Amino acid sequence: MSAGHGKRIYFDHGATAPMLPEVVEAMSPYFSEKSGNASSIHSFGREARKAVDEGRESLAKLLNADPSEIVFTSGGTESDNLAVKGTAMHGRRADGHIITSAVEHPAVLEPCAYLEGLGFQVTRIPVSSEALIDPEAVRDAIRDDTVLISIMMANSEVGTMQPVEEIGRIAKDSGIPFHTDAVQAVSKVPIDLDRLDVDLLSISSHKMHGPKGIGALFVRKGTGIDPILHGGGHEGGLRSSTENVPGIAGFGKAAEIARRDMGEVSDRMRGLRDNLVKEVLDEIPNSYLNGHPTKRLAGNAHFRFDFIEGEGLVLGLDMLGIATSTGSACSTGSLEPSHVLLAMGLRHEQAHGSLRVTLGRENNHEEAGYFIDVLPGVVSKLREISPFSGHTPLGSDGGDASVQR
Ligand SMILES: *Cc1c(COP(=O)(O)O)cnc(C)c1O
Repeated sequence: MSAGHGKRIYFDHGATAPMLPEVVEAMSPYFSEKSGNASSIHSFGREARKAVDEGRESLAKLLNADPSEIVFTSGGTESDNLAVKGTAMHGRRADGHIITSAVEHPAVLEPCAYLEGLGFQVTRIPVSSEALIDPEAVRDAIRDDTVLISIMMANSEVGTMQPVEEIGRIAKDSGIPFHTDAVQAVSKVPIDLDRLDVDLLSISSHKMHGPKGIGALFVRKGTGIDPILHGGGHEGGLRSSTENVPGIAGFGKAAEIARRDMGEVSDRMRGLRDNLVKEVLDEIPNSYLNGHPTKRLAGNAHFRFDFIEGEGLVLGLDMLGIATSTGSACSTGSLEPSHVLLAMGLRHEQAHGSLRVTLGRENNHEEAGYFIDVLPGVVSKLREISPFSGHTPLGSDGGDASVQR
């Protein structure tokens, strides 16, 4: 089914952002006439190598890094795995200590849990009700045997931006490698790796309007890290496997576009989001904003509605042509409430009533207006059939961050 104006509306950019036409165009020759292997020395190989070099330069420019510090991977998940396991294994002692947070993406949390099973020790820093990490808590967690600190730049669910500048400084003072999962932040906030004390930074192409199945890990020169894929020695020996040339060409184009348009797009998304949040909280009783009111990604709005299930909301909106999410796409299909919302102190039933709206560059006021027009009807319909309706609002103890209307 479709929206009132016969068009589907995509408000789920946190799950994946649609490829831009320029990106598809940049990739196209590498599927056909230029489909050489970048390691071959003939002309086909040389043109593939050129595409890989240009993609690497484009990524490096976006982050103000050196091209030699960009390692291409298969995506954000592999970049996180390489950063966490690669640095942990580099020490060749299975009893080191890792500091991370309670609200990381599973691509960081699961490798940490795996290493814990091998004998490593892991400290998971708790967060405030706004999902913020206190840098001093990171400092206090540091031990003599700490081998890695991994704290994300922006939360994938509620969009909270972490104080990575301070955490980076603390890590550097202690001589501990610092990894940040910047998959949600890259292309949305300026990142200057010449100034930021970050040793490893994960990126994923499909979260920034590039193709799926390609990502990168920034590895600062001199950082001790072992590969997790062993083979032909591609990517400076850190990531063997024949380069995904079309993917890299598209990723490079997406990085170039991000560099060109970031300021304008972010300002527009922030305006659209702020208006949308205000309207929703004004129009719908017992609704709340999850996450930090200001320290958050420009396009991210994360709501909570008492008495209803987020899944019902997502399906109801989908029938009206609007794509949203209950939280992270990764935990879809599981009945467990989001680990992020629970870490923020929300109760199970509060976490279940959440809705994530993530805007992107192609969204406009007309689409936001349609969403605001139809949402109250969807919410009240669900509340009518909810066994919880008529009870006390759940939000009354939902933490300081809740903005209640
Ligand atoms: C999407 C996401 C990932 C995983 O990236 P893939 O390219 O899908 O593997 C990792 N971390 C964060 C914060 C994400 O949002």
